[in-house]
Amino acid sequence: LTPVPSDIEISRAQTPKPVNQLAEEIGLLPEELEAYGRSKAKVRLSLLDRLHAQPDGKYVLVAGITPTPLGEGKSTVTIGLVQALSAHLKLNSFACLRQPSQGPTFGVKGGAAGGGYAQVIPMEEVRHTDRLIVFNLHLTGDIHAITAANNLVAAAIDARMLHEATQSDKALYNRLVPSVNGVRRFSPIQISKRLGINKTDPAALTPQEVSTFVRLDLDPSKITWQRVVDTNDRFLRKITVGQASTEKGQYQRGMQHHPFTGFDIAVASEIMDMKNRLARIVVGTSRSGQPVTTEDLVISTGKTLESGTPVFVHAGPFANIAHGNSSVLADKLALKLVGRDGFVVTEAGFGADIGMEKFFNIKCRASGLRPNVVVLVATVRALKMHGGGPNVSAGAPLPKEYIDENLSLVAGGCHSNLRKQIQIAHLFGVPVVVALNVFTTDTKAEIDLVCQIAKECGASDAVPCHHWAQGGRGSLELAQAVNEAASRSSKFQFLYNTETPIAEKIKTIAQKVYGADDIELSPAAKAKIDYYNQQGYGSLPICMAKTHLSLSHMPDKKGAPTGFVLPIRDVRASVGAGFIYPLVGTMSTMPGLPTRPCFYDIDLDPATEEITGLF
Ligand code: ADP
Repeated sequence: LTPVPSDIEISRAQTPKPVNQLAEEIGLLPEELEAYGRSKAKVRLSLLDRLHAQPDGKYVLVAGITPTPLGEGKSTVTIGLVQALSAHLKLNSFACLRQPSQGPTFGVKGGAAGGGYAQVIPMEEVRHTDRLIVFNLHLTGDIHAITAANNLVAAAIDARMLHEATQSDKALYNRLVPSVNGVRRFSPIQISKRLGINKTDPAALTPQEVSTFVRLDLDPSKITWQRVVDTNDRFLRKITVGQASTEKGQYQRGMQHHPFTGFDIAVASEIMDMKNRLARIVVGTSRSGQPVTTEDLVISTGKTLESGTPVFVHAGPFANIAHGNSSVLADKLALKLVGRDGFVVTEAGFGADIGMEKFFNIKCRASGLRPNVVVLVATVRALKMHGGGPNVSAGAPLPKEYIDENLSLVAGGCHSNLRKQIQIAHLFGVPVVVALNVFTTDTKAEIDLVCQIAKECGASDAVPCHHWAQGGRGSLELAQAVNEAASRSSKFQFLYNTETPIAEKIKTIAQKVYGADDIELSPAAKAKIDYYNQQGYGSLPICMAKTHLSLSHMPDKKGAPTGFVLPIRDVRASVGAGFIYPLVGTMSTMPGLPTRPCFYDIDLDPATEEITGLF
């Protein structure tokens, strides 16, 4: 349809194929399936034993150039590609994705189930209960969902107090009550509810009324809300939060009693009793003695589209902190199920310097699987940003350079970031097909220019993709290019040998992948490396925790930065998962919520019992 309806409208307009039927079509035996409702199921791992002797299908990795904070469409390209391979080229194919984290889903970027006519359905179930097909420990996911909802409330309380402590009334008003086409979004009903007055125009509020309207003014000593986790972890009964320097300074500004809090067991959460009551939950008291509820925090209850192409959704690690890939088990099962001529398309998070590097050096090393092709997703908007365009931020309108044709910005981005990301994939000896994810504002000249430069930079092929607007049909050219590239032989190699010393491995990634001159280890990082060597962990692979917004450690440095030294602040070990993870620059292992997070727009429609506001 034109214009393309919202993701949730498209998702709901399509009835998912019954999972039993889908399972039969892809060759699963009834006893290998455990259905969760009509459209989701778990698969028994005995399937791997049964298919042991089957040849693997072709293995395609979807990675991307360095993205804008909005995401450049790797998930949509993944889904569009499998839709084209299966529905249009009639090749068996499977997509393997990560479960969306509630961090971005409720924070800035939204979910990760694709979008437009290239998405995983059913959207709400994927996001709110569990995975389409899973092998997890969370049973039906209910306790997990309660933990998630409970802790979203805790994070919202702390973030709101921080934002109120650090922002003026006017700044809070502008952020909390954004203007859409010149109209403020809060309704007169919401004003009268908070202020007890009957004004219809938010612009007519006095400064004092604005202040009362935007400030919950929670009393830090009277917060009653606790975090929860479903483990008997007694040392979490009383804890101190907010000790990082980025939050700590705020205590002097009025949060002095606040750092003490604690965890409860998840099944003790008030949210267990959620149905109609979530909005009524009291989380604390304002300094003037008024109870503050979750409603005041604006939290309330909270297969692909074509031919039912199957999707495994298993694991959900972030790419800038963890390894950013779905599980080895999901890929292995899918490769057996599609057979020799079929395709498995798996996605690695963020830019190729992050998710793809870890896919090769960590995941492929662990699995023994070897990819045939890398699909590198680019957008005209991200290329313009790398070519010197103004900053792009979530929630703000795109500057005009991103809407009007601008070939010199596009060329600048292609010659810097796109070229570098293609070179990174070639370090591993795998052919690259560039997929230009087309937006309605892109012009033909811009699209042609990207494809031409990408090929000059060594890509096997570069094609525009229209899956977002057209579904699989719009990715047909990409499917053909991938099929062709996969038929050639590739000479896969790792970037480093794991027996190399830890500091050397970090330096290799910094220099060869990020373009750094050198690395600088802090005294803490050096001490940790010595310690891990003594403990016998020196030969683990490396999982860099680095910003995804730049090839360097500096999020503002776009394109392909050079002439920098990569600072390693600390080094940690995830021995169970099997990697050492250096913390680069100021990279944090826990993202924060913005002043106006996505959950402001997520709600439950009482009439239809459908979730609104997901994207
Ligand atoms: P990534 O996987 O790279 O993070 P997604 O595939 O999740 O990115 O896409 C990010 C957002 O952009 C989603 O909301 C998606 O619906 C939207 N999007 C992706 N491609 C297009 C497009 N071609 N036109 C319009 N919106 C798009």
